[in-house]
Amino acid sequence: MTVAVAVVCGLLGLAVGSFLNVVIYRVPRKESVVRPRSRCPGCGTQLADRDNIPVFSWILLRGRCRTCGEPISARYPLVELGTAALFVSAALRFGLDWVLPAYLVFFAALVAVTFIDLEHYIIPNRIVYPTLFVSVPLLVLAAAAQNEWSELLRAGEGAALAWGFLLVVHLIQPRGMGFGDVRLAAVLGLFLGWLDLRHVFLGMFLGFLFGSVSSIVLVVMRRRGRKDQIPFGPFLAAGAVAAVLFGSPIINWYSPG
Ligand SMILES: [Zn+2]
Repeated sequence: MTVAVAVVCGLLGLAVGSFLNVVIYRVPRKESVVRPRSRCPGCGTQLADRDNIPVFSWILLRGRCRTCGEPISARYPLVELGTAALFVSAALRFGLDWVLPAYLVFFAALVAVTFIDLEHYIIPNRIVYPTLFVSVPLLVLAAAAQNEWSELLRAGEGAALAWGFLLVVHLIQPRGMGFGDVRLAAVLGLFLGWLDLRHVFLGMFLGFLFGSVSSIVLVVMRRRGRKDQIPFGPFLAAGAVAAVLFGSPIINWYSPG
């Protein structure tokens, strides 16, 4: 059964990843994500359906536009494959559970946040607010369907905790931690809190760990100066994903019984 759910989620992930490519390109440019249809950024030709199939079109076209031959960024298939992999992981983690759709929305949002923050150094409200708008009702639905009201309460606590924690970091170090990160933390806290509050701490800890290690590596490799800005959203996102997928084994190993 779980295998069937994983396969369905994987295919869904490819389709959602294709939409996320549109979101990642257009939201920072303040364009509509619904219209018009996707165009080649090089020549402006509208993509035919056959050239708009996730991953496969990119491979068949060898990463170039059919009309003008302009290279198409490897980010497109990467986002699609990454989203599919995250959706499969969520399916394997939760199985056929009422809470699964909410976590798919969560993971999809994290993919968009990661790639937008890497390129533009912002975490747009146009990602964070719609994510909350969709996922909070999904969590309430899951709580109602499975009588998991204590999980829902903890999700609220987790959101408040993570938001408050990053707010303090932001006030101390406004250059290193933008307010977009603070808003994102509320979303992370919500989903980690649903699992339990230890997951909130673990997720934040891993986010800061990934962020610090990467900063040190970049400075040592002289890819970045010590004072250059490094986007923090991708690390928070990676920490949260790691905590959702592997948090329980890590926590049990660290504090048995
Ligand atoms: Zn073109």
